Amino acid sequence: MANRDRLLKTLIDLIQIDSPTGEEDAMDREVSSRLEALGFKVHHDSFNNVIAKLPGAGEPVLLSAHLDTVEPGRGIQPVLDGDVLRSDGTTILGGDCKSGVSIVLEALTTVTESGDKHLPIEVAFTRAEEGGLVGVHHLDFSQLSAKRGVVFDGEGAVNRVSVAAPSQNVVTAQIRGRSAHAGVEPEKGLSAIILAAEILTQLPLGRIDQETTANIGRIEGGLKRNIIPELVLLDGELRSLDNAKLDRYSQEFQRVFDQARARHPDAEITLDIRNTYQAYRVADSHPAVAMIGRALARIGMEIRLEATGGGSDANVFQEHGIVALPVGIGVESFHTVRESAVVSQVLQGAEMCEGIIRGV
Ligand SMILES: [Zn+2]
Repeated sequence: MANRDRLLKTLIDLIQIDSPTGEEDAMDREVSSRLEALGFKVHHDSFNNVIAKLPGAGEPVLLSAHLDTVEPGRGIQPVLDGDVLRSDGTTILGGDCKSGVSIVLEALTTVTESGDKHLPIEVAFTRAEEGGLVGVHHLDFSQLSAKRGVVFDGEGAVNRVSVAAPSQNVVTAQIRGRSAHAGVEPEKGLSAIILAAEILTQLPLGRIDQETTANIGRIEGGLKRNIIPELVLLDGELRSLDNAKLDRYSQEFQRVFDQARARHPDAEITLDIRNTYQAYRVADSHPAVAMIGRALARIGMEIRLEATGGGSDANVFQEHGIVALPVGIGVESFHTVRESAVVSQVLQGAEMCEGIIRGV
């Protein structure tokens, strides 16, 4: 069985290795050497994602997590308070996704130590997940033969399984008006900030419907109090569990920008909408769901099927024909300095993962 103390030590050790997106080398070295010590053959693809394999009997299974964290994520000081691990409040904890990596390593250690039979195991530890699933987009899928698996990268308890996830379009816009002295000749100017305001009030934003959300999360523009602002940049996103709705609302964005362009022919307004990942929905009856359900039942937990509002490496695995579902890793409040890991829940993650590897 998974060992709580060993698991907690692994988690704390990994949390103390800084790995903000783009700086995953130290984490890579640590997990690669641990995997090699367990008998895995470790490869790196052209993006330096870690792909490790151990032969076994039966249908191969993919176990995945990511190596990077968000900021502020340097010099993290984990503090254990009973069953809960937190940061000292000045950084994230990095439980996202160090808990996921620790869960996989603990389960692999338990099973390989036992000498028992297990499935052929394929591990993918990706880089730059937090940078917009960059690592998994570069993953060398020719190295993987598994058709199902688990992505250890969800919030909450391990029985929370994301069977549906949204698609995301990234929206960036540039609005260029004309600068002029604000006090001397404002009539010669064309304020990009006012144009942006006009556009923003017309875009569908927030929760559009049960399955669809939109946000402009960053606005940048203007130079000085006394200059009519020439340039504004907008940075946002659209998400939907339904790819058709994502298209429809992207067109709606397009229409609002087209109309602004028509109203202000001397402004220069550009809009760029790019898809970063596609939605997926896996049937409750899918074998990958049943596999996780059995591993949970083995430790007395009941599966909870959920639709998530966030994308993960799982979306891209789906695009490559691998049904690897995200499960909870015992961590709450991802991407905040309040992030915490519940050690007993992390342990449940390792126990569930053990069942997956054993092919229960
Ligand atoms: Zn994550």
